[in-house]
Amino acid sequence: MTEVLANSLPEGARCAAHPETLAGSLCARCGSYACQACSHEVAGQSFCGACVSTLPVKSTPGRRLGAAIIDSILVTVPMYTAAMAAVLSEELGGLEVVLMVVGGLTTVAVLGLNLRGVHTRGQSIGKRLMKMKVVRADGSRASTPRIIFARNGVPMLIGVVPILGGFFGLVDSLWIFGNETRCVHDLIADTIVVEAPEG
Ligand SMILES: [Zn+2]
Ligand SMILES: [Zn+2]
Repeated sequence: MTEVLANSLPEGARCAAHPETLAGSLCARCGSYACQACSHEVAGQSFCGACVSTLPVKSTPGRRLGAAIIDSILVTVPMYTAAMAAVLSEELGGLEVVLMVVGGLTTVAVLGLNLRGVHTRGQSIGKRLMKMKVVRADGSRASTPRIIFARNGVPMLIGVVPILGGFFGLVDSLWIFGNETRCVHDLIADTIVVEAPEG
């Protein structure tokens, strides 16, 4: 019965690390044979010991929240400073104009840096500071349009729908606590957030 499991392996295939042991599986990344002891199951695929240690490690919900808070503060503080200076002032004096210009320019600069970071490394400023990045679910590079439109844009559009938007926002963030450690916006864009210790 158990031989059926090894149906893709040639007769008598041996583990790459243990030549005395019959192989039970094929590594999904490097294609080498692995015995039961060497084989690791990750997301429905088998990997040998060497490859499993190089697989991307998903970031924890707490660290992702930290990055999201940093990103949110970096954009909202200068933006609200500019908006408040414009709205609250009876008449536009020198201080209000300075606050509007500095706040506005800082907001644009932060958005520009985020765009550049996402394009070159899959990292917003917050994710870069927290040493994590966005990649495709299979570990490959996530394209800029995928991150900007599918990952950020679609949830933003759903977010402005009355009632549904608020409900979606809650479900989106709470989904991180599921088995896959992914938000709903990760599922929409087919992305994961992984540790990037090298920066
Ligand atoms: Zn391997
Ligand atoms: Zn082995």
